[in-house]
Amino acid sequence: MNFSSKLLENAVAEFSKLPGVGQKTALRLVLHLLNQEKDEVERFSLAMTKLRNEILFCRVCHNISDQQVCEICTSHKRDRSTICIVEDTRDVMAIENTNQFNGVYHVLGGLISPMDGIGPSDLEIDSLLTRITPGEVKEVIFALSATMEGDTTIFYLNKRLKDFHINISTIARGIAFGGELEYVDEITLGRSIATRVPYENSLSR
Ligand SMILES: [Zn+2]
Repeated sequence: MNFSSKLLENAVAEFSKLPGVGQKTALRLVLHLLNQEKDEVERFSLAMTKLRNEILFCRVCHNISDQQVCEICTSHKRDRSTICIVEDTRDVMAIENTNQFNGVYHVLGGLISPMDGIGPSDLEIDSLLTRITPGEVKEVIFALSATMEGDTTIFYLNKRLKDFHINISTIARGIAFGGELEYVDEITLGRSIATRVPYENSLSR
């Protein structure tokens, strides 16, 4: 692409770094911003800068939060004896949208993936075991994608959780979700949480 301005080229280059945004789309977005009032564009860039600088991760569940401990973890209405294990914050949002889950979450921050060099120590696993230790937790639900990485992560965690004598279940894993958990419709996802099965049973099917 030949740009008539270095400023324009730089802005397009920045937008092109976003996932799913090619140069053409980047140019369209930049030209759109150019047509906006100056304070509108300032609000936009300030929102991005504040997001990056001020965002926190809940100390308990590691979900993205504005506070040290997130609203779900501090809520008196949530059942702390049931922990749903998910890959990232999008999965929390998807499950919250179903209104079918009243427990709390644990966000791993990824999945075990030897191919990508991601091992258990790269994920929020130690803090999960620490949460379970006091004996208040009765059930752990895996809501991880039906991929090799999801399977590997569940297999590993199941082994680590065995000695805690808690119920370990998994949501129906035939459905396409995962990094794509947010694309599953709410009814399907809600139903799969309500009808979750013990992990051991899910292996024999
Ligand atoms: Zn939390």
